Amino acid sequence: MYLRTEKLPFDSMHEECGVFGVYSQENRNVAYSVYYGLYALQHRGQESAGIAVSFADKISYHKGMGLVSEIFANGKLDELPEGDIAIGHVRYSTTGASQLLNAQPVVFTGKCGKMALAHNGNLTNTKQLRKELVAANAVFQTTIDSEVMAVMINSLSDGDILTGVRRACPKFKGSYALVIMTTDKLIAVRDPYGIRPLCIGMAIDDYVVASESCALDAVSATYLRDVKPGEIVVIDSNGLHSYMMDDLPKCSQMCIFEYVYFARHDTVMDGCSVYEARKEAGRLLAKYYPADVDIVSGVPDSANVAARGYSEQSGVPFVEALAKNRYVGRTFIQPDQRQRENSLNVKMNALRSNVNGKKLLIIDDSIVRGTTMKKIVKMLRDAGATEVHIRICSPMVKHPCHLGIDIQTYSQLIAAYRNEEAVCEKIGADSLKYLSVEHLLETCKSANVGFCLGCFTGEYPYSPEGDETDKLKFD
Ligand code: SF4
Repeated sequence: MYLRTEKLPFDSMHEECGVFGVYSQENRNVAYSVYYGLYALQHRGQESAGIAVSFADKISYHKGMGLVSEIFANGKLDELPEGDIAIGHVRYSTTGASQLLNAQPVVFTGKCGKMALAHNGNLTNTKQLRKELVAANAVFQTTIDSEVMAVMINSLSDGDILTGVRRACPKFKGSYALVIMTTDKLIAVRDPYGIRPLCIGMAIDDYVVASESCALDAVSATYLRDVKPGEIVVIDSNGLHSYMMDDLPKCSQMCIFEYVYFARHDTVMDGCSVYEARKEAGRLLAKYYPADVDIVSGVPDSANVAARGYSEQSGVPFVEALAKNRYVGRTFIQPDQRQRENSLNVKMNALRSNVNGKKLLIIDDSIVRGTTMKKIVKMLRDAGATEVHIRICSPMVKHPCHLGIDIQTYSQLIAAYRNEEAVCEKIGADSLKYLSVEHLLETCKSANVGFCLGCFTGEYPYSPEGDETDKLKFD
């Protein structure tokens, strides 16, 4: 039986986490700002969430399993004290089990006094760092890499949090966007390659940091800028200070899947609008991979923008072919195997009146395992579609990701050992075309960062080697 904390077998990549922080010039209900920010970041993780508030040299927090709205219901949000700094986190687990113990922020007392840390990303050398710290008598309460980061920062800090962060970051290999809070500082850190997004905004006199700009909008904050790859931003009573890490790589490598799928389409990251990138992907698919069809549609919700781009470019009318049940989330309970297999029917349904007797072109952001796309093609044929052509807004996902996404083995990927024709045959479509790497990069050309394309090319900013668990995962 699927419990509310277990993962559903839906076929898509999942982001690991979202982070949010606020520094206020006055004592107020900062927890509310974080609550609204986390609400806007809920798509980045639905397994657990938490908020920590700094007040009067103390830190108070509440964490729970489930959605932000569930965890802070029944007066839980109001039980958090007023304060001047607060951070929050929404989680989808890729390392460490999905359980309350591993929910974030990580809160503890160390050399810098009270401290809380929230992390989006995934370290590839967690085991080695943990071993090093255990040898130095560190004790761990969780199985997550984020606690390893917090303990490492504390152990190297000599009582000064900035010193701890600057000394610890060169030891971290992998992706990390961090928000860290002490009783008088809010710190935002982005790994040297800038793999996960992080931005800064301002709401009147309050500084706000968030994984995505849509969360700044949720608290009426004005976007100031993105945290640069390799930058440590410290916000305290003296304002905002920026420090760059030493020995930065020549080129940043932001995860391009943030634009393809993970981020909300009203977000702007590193100078590039997610909405515009997705629409351009649709336009390019129409330009390079046209098909003789009656209507074009997207797999809701993330591919609808691209489908409109395709329609705009080709003149083929955009008509909804699939309806999505918006209330199916990670809390969905599936009692047995048969019902589990039917889970897509609960999540999505074909709009028979729109597709019956039509030649369809369906756009999706990516194909990972291929199980969902196969079911969608069948569902549309069953509803009367005479042809189903598939166009994908990204290249073939041929390699796993060890940088914060839950695709960890080649065996999970339909395209790992197949070419386009073989995948097309497997999903039962009339034709299948993927956007090329060059065209995908073209969709994000206004971004002021370089990109990681590892799951398409197998070339990552950090190799998975050096961590035995990752080695085993790569079959
Ligand atoms: S491997 Fe793919 S999903 Fe992972 S960080 Fe790189 S682009 Fe993103």
